[in-house]
Amino acid sequence: MPRVLRTPDDLNAADIRSLYNNFDSPIARLDCGKKCAPHNPNGVPFCCDICHAVPAAYNSEWKTLRDSTNLWHAYRGDECTASDSPTAGEALADSDLPANMILLACLGADKCQRPNRILGCRAFPFFPYISSDHRFLGLACEWEFESVCWVVSNLNQVTDEYRAEFLSTFDHLLATFDEVFENYEAHSQRLRAHYGSRRKRFALLHRNGGSYLVSPLSERMQRVAANQLPRYGYYR
Ligand code: SF4
Ligand code: SF4
Repeated sequence: MPRVLRTPDDLNAADIRSLYNNFDSPIARLDCGKKCAPHNPNGVPFCCDICHAVPAAYNSEWKTLRDSTNLWHAYRGDECTASDSPTAGEALADSDLPANMILLACLGADKCQRPNRILGCRAFPFFPYISSDHRFLGLACEWEFESVCWVVSNLNQVTDEYRAEFLSTFDHLLATFDEVFENYEAHSQRLRAHYGSRRKRFALLHRNGGSYLVSPLSERMQRVAANQLPRYGYYR
């Protein structure tokens, strides 16, 4: 009898490893961590710095990883010791972490184990963008990192292999789990509200292979060359 998967909690270790194996290509041909780390006073890539980003994993990922690696532990809240860094933990404590997810902390960038990275590490700085008429259109950027993440300002460097693996992974997750779809639909709405309040368009790496600027209110899309997408912060 086929297994029925109702929530991400139903994913077993084999499912998780299969997701990881099929979403493993580097995001760019160069090591983007070498581009952003020099701008971080803590000296490490921003997305691997617990003072800037607290990773969130599905409970099923945590169950799989805690049995197979020492890379991760459940986030305690005292991991960031830099006094002048943003307190990512406090920000997240206030946010609505989905019930099927848990906050984790890893051993740090110098001890990263690529095969044991969670989906959140693999997807960063992107999330699946869902339009208001419920279509998964492509990859949008986590806007809170736009001034520090080199990739967000260099979307023309994202490889076709990475884009294809991202789309395939989230096609599967969004089609299988309603709550995952709803969470990303709400996140996409927050993206539109954020850019709407700034009266700016946001970048989208469309599933058709093109690059677009999206108007947050009308959702009108204008196709542009990838090297004409906006650059932010340190990378202007
Ligand atoms: S994804 Fe962005 S923040 Fe993370 S290492 Fe690459 S450039 Fe830095
Ligand atoms: S597991 Fe690796 S990629 Fe993920 S946050 Fe830790 S150091 Fe960064």
